[in-house]
Amino acid sequence: MIPIVESLLFASYRKIRFAMSTRIGGVSPEPLGMNLSYHVGDDPVNVRENRRRFFDAIGIHAERVAFAGQCHSNRVVIVHAADVIPRCDGLLTDRPGIALAISVADCLPLFVFDPVRNGIAAIHAGWRGTAAHIALITVTKMTDHFGSTPSDLVAFIGPCAGVCCYEIGEEVADQLDERCIESRDAKIFADLKQANFTQLVASGIVPSNIEVSDDCTICDGERYHSYRREKEKSGRMLGVITLVEKERSICAG
Ligand SMILES: [Zn+2]
Repeated sequence: MIPIVESLLFASYRKIRFAMSTRIGGVSPEPLGMNLSYHVGDDPVNVRENRRRFFDAIGIHAERVAFAGQCHSNRVVIVHAADVIPRCDGLLTDRPGIALAISVADCLPLFVFDPVRNGIAAIHAGWRGTAAHIALITVTKMTDHFGSTPSDLVAFIGPCAGVCCYEIGEEVADQLDERCIESRDAKIFADLKQANFTQLVASGIVPSNIEVSDDCTICDGERYHSYRREKEKSGRMLGVITLVEKERSICAG
């Protein structure tokens, strides 16, 4: 069994399945390891095998996964089929069996579930998406399209570059909420988890309904890919969420 990141909060809901990969358990040469991206110079044969291992381990069909194109925007798109959706960084669906995938190595992966209206969201939030309020926009879109009530929603903020390591310049700090900026030793650090948590709470999600991973992708080189650490040699992890189809959930026990 390959190691995966789970959410304790999401695990308590039988209507969804969620998992995120690590850098462990793949066939690509180091430091790629368990790389799940076709866009980082890895051999496609290896990526295909890595994806097969990950999707098999979590019980999701690779051909039923929708991927966000990811361009550091705040564009959130409603998805009805498995596809690569260009020019967006957030995906929403209420279709059971369609998995939503976000690819990361330091950027923040964020997932939201509405257990009342049965809608899900997957978001890629680097500093640009965070500065452009993609988390806030996602909750608004869930309210508009699924009829979600924010206080019903539950969310998971996954492993990403932590405030312990994520040094930024003045020009980036100027664009972020000052409450998520920390200064130490004449350097500036961004807390993307805090910034997105704040946006979720501002949108009406109850703080106790938000689980935040403690893990930093830059610090934890054994477990995670990190673009800051590995530069252009870095692989990518995938975070995937899906609404479980009723027949399938019965078959799976
Ligand atoms: Zn760190």
